[in-house]
Amino acid sequence: MMGKVLRIEKTSIYDGEGMRTVVFLLGCPLQCKWCSTPESQNSACQNLYGKEMSAEEIVDEVSKDEIFFFHSNGGLTLSGGEILQQPDFCMEILKECRYRGISTAIETSFYGKYDYIQSLLPFLDELYLDIKVMDRKKHKSYTGVYNDLILDNILKLQKESWHGNIHIRIPCIPTVNMDEENIKDTALFCKDIPGLVDIELLPYHRLGLETYRKLNLEYALKDIKAPDAEELKTVAALLRKILPQTTIKIKGELYHP
Ligand code: SF4
Repeated sequence: MMGKVLRIEKTSIYDGEGMRTVVFLLGCPLQCKWCSTPESQNSACQNLYGKEMSAEEIVDEVSKDEIFFFHSNGGLTLSGGEILQQPDFCMEILKECRYRGISTAIETSFYGKYDYIQSLLPFLDELYLDIKVMDRKKHKSYTGVYNDLILDNILKLQKESWHGNIHIRIPCIPTVNMDEENIKDTALFCKDIPGLVDIELLPYHRLGLETYRKLNLEYALKDIKAPDAEELKTVAALLRKILPQTTIKIKGELYHP
């Protein structure tokens, strides 16, 4: 089975446990204004980037790193774009990794049919989910879609007998989602997530700016600066207040009050 791949990154330490080989898939139905891979949002741009690969080619490439996985408890992470755009392709990759004994994780916005999500769960160890903005209208204005489907999909996990780990990630973007109301709403929502291992804050960055320039796309958040350490700690403290038992991380590091 063939799929659209943006790139493969080796020895990442930010996309799951241990050292990961991260396979970025092309295509995303969202249009987040802060997106660092705008080439994923636009099908015309997708032709300029990435390539078609078979699931077998990908798993063969990932398998080359097994020695790193063994020593670090690492494995494969499928990321995007939005991986739920290519559910059958993802399943082939995850299934084959499982067969070869490679640990599996996905990073997803969870914006996709729940059937697709259900079909991936049996082959999955770790699930990394973004919660961007809780207010549905604000979510639509910053990402192009309402968040109802995403939140519904997360709550549906309560009915699954899947025993993998769930990690919530919040991209922290000043003036967009770091206000007290949004963080409180996010924390209260997270209370009901089964198997939640931790919540991680990911500071906004501008690493995709060069791609916007190359593609002649307008970058909507040009006046927003990355949050500083104190701002991130304020968000972490608020989460901790509402979720005292939950591990909070700031870009991979444990938050200590
Ligand atoms: S979900 Fe991720 S890949 Fe898709 S537009 Fe948003 S930031 Fe970009």
